[in-house]
Amino acid sequence: MSEEEEERKRVKADDDSEIEDLSEEDIGNYITVIATDGYYKQAQIVKVSCPACGEEFLGTKRHAGGFIAGHRAYHEFENAQDMRVEQMGGI
Ligand SMILES: [Zn+2]
Repeated sequence: MSEEEEERKRVKADDDSEIEDLSEEDIGNYITVIATDGYYKQAQIVKVSCPACGEEFLGTKRHAGGFIAGHRAYHEFENAQDMRVEQMGGI
């Protein structure tokens, strides 16, 4: 890989949840990410979708894991809220 190409694939993230300039074409690509929580070298871009609500996420595996865990926690919370409402006699 040429130095120029290496530079082009370097993505700077402002925080640990946002990587700019990603598109579907980047899926499967390996990028280097400099984020506030660390330096991700050869991070692969993946696309995942939430089985509960279908929301899609495009980013590194590290962030995809956060997306999945975040949605799981959110939907569990939501379900718990629904059950609470039912226990109180429904809406
Ligand atoms: Zn979801």
